Amino acid sequence: MNFEFTEEQQEFRKILSDFSKEELLPNYTKWDREGLTPKHLWKKLGELGVNGLRIPEEYGGSGADCITTGIAAEEIGRGDFNLTYAVMLNALIGEILSKHASDEIKQLWLPQIASGNKIVGIAITEPSAGTDAGGIQSTARLDGDVYVLNGEKSGISVATCGDAFIIFAKTSPDLGNRGISAFLVPADLDGLEVKGYEDMGNIPVGRGSIYMHDVKVPVSNRIGLENNGFYQVMNGFDLSRLLIGLQCIGAAMQSLDETIEHVKIRESFGKPLAKYQAVSFPIVTHYTQLELVKWQAYRGLWLRDQGLKHSRESSSVKWLGPKYSADAIHECLLLNGHYAYTKEMPLEQRLRDVIGLEIGDGTAQANQMVIAKDLIGKEFRTV
Ligand SMILES: Cc1cc2nc3c(=O)[nH]c(=O)nc-3n(C[C@H](O)[C@H](O)[C@H](O)COP(=O)(O)OP(=O)(O)OC[C@H]3O[C@@H](n4cnc5c(N)ncnc54)[C@H](O)[C@@H]3O)c2cc1C
Repeated sequence: MNFEFTEEQQEFRKILSDFSKEELLPNYTKWDREGLTPKHLWKKLGELGVNGLRIPEEYGGSGADCITTGIAAEEIGRGDFNLTYAVMLNALIGEILSKHASDEIKQLWLPQIASGNKIVGIAITEPSAGTDAGGIQSTARLDGDVYVLNGEKSGISVATCGDAFIIFAKTSPDLGNRGISAFLVPADLDGLEVKGYEDMGNIPVGRGSIYMHDVKVPVSNRIGLENNGFYQVMNGFDLSRLLIGLQCIGAAMQSLDETIEHVKIRESFGKPLAKYQAVSFPIVTHYTQLELVKWQAYRGLWLRDQGLKHSRESSSVKWLGPKYSADAIHECLLLNGHYAYTKEMPLEQRLRDVIGLEIGDGTAQANQMVIAKDLIGKEFRTV
């Protein structure tokens, strides 16, 4: 057993840590206030090699391992939680396209994703199917050399700024989960419309709904085998869930660091706050909880790198990472007193942002269902 990161991984962490503190953190609240997606920073992340971590070198990425991708999620999370979507989405989409897309799609899209020139989202959720993702109703009907897509996707990250989406639709509605296929759908195709939301947090991520009215997608844009889309993406979730845990933990650890500095200086009743156990013990509790989940996340990423099963680890991290992080940031906000309740400080935004990923990519219950199925057995599958 070796818990050490490689020299290369440590160097990469240092580069991202410096970038995050110097270039992301000072502007973290700006994009939220202005309601803007900082596309130039997606490009900057491309230059730093962050977007192409899970994209093979021949398509403009670095083909890095999952542990290195986790380091990026954690460090970018310290500076700007909303930019961690670039780490997580690009890793998930990079893997799905590299493994399952046609060569034409790979040549066209992967280098652009790696460079940060194009933003691609993933659209599964629908108004009547969230946790029950197999219950989607959007359809894709084969008509000559195109599929004709109809339906509505909801809650989709980067909906308002995405250049394309991996959209899941039923190609054989009678087959249930087995009848779902995935398509790379450029956002500018006729019949595709997008409407943004007024979200509580993750504002620069531009979440929204996607409406499809007879959208014609070339057959070559189908990703993988027909009727196999559901199973392709489920495997990808095992990666994105580990990364989400780490991006939340990055934001929470940064909040703890800032709060530790505050309680050393701020005095009440003639003593620094840090001298009171009622202040130091909650900090210790949150730090401990976050560390436990962090190492479970790196264990999951290591298992994935070895090609070993890791769904249980991944779901446990997705369940508790965002939850412990939101709890920690909430406590930090309280320990900083009333100024932290204003928009002068980043804590209120971090709390709003992190809560989003208690839902996105699967709620606590959805992840507990995965663990129950694995731990107790398929025949006792929780529904
Ligand atoms: C910030 C954010 C980003 C997102 N990004 C994307 C994206 O990029 N692409 C995408 O496709 N989707 C995205 N989503 C949507 C997200 O994946 C869904 O919201 C999520 O899967 C839950 O689905 P739902 O909202 O329909 O809730 P529902 O499925 O209706 O669930 C509502 C509540 O009931 C609980 N519940 C449901 N079924 C059960 C059960 N069997 N047992 C116990 N409890 C249950 C859930 O845990 C939840 O608390 C995003 C959501 C958010 C908030």
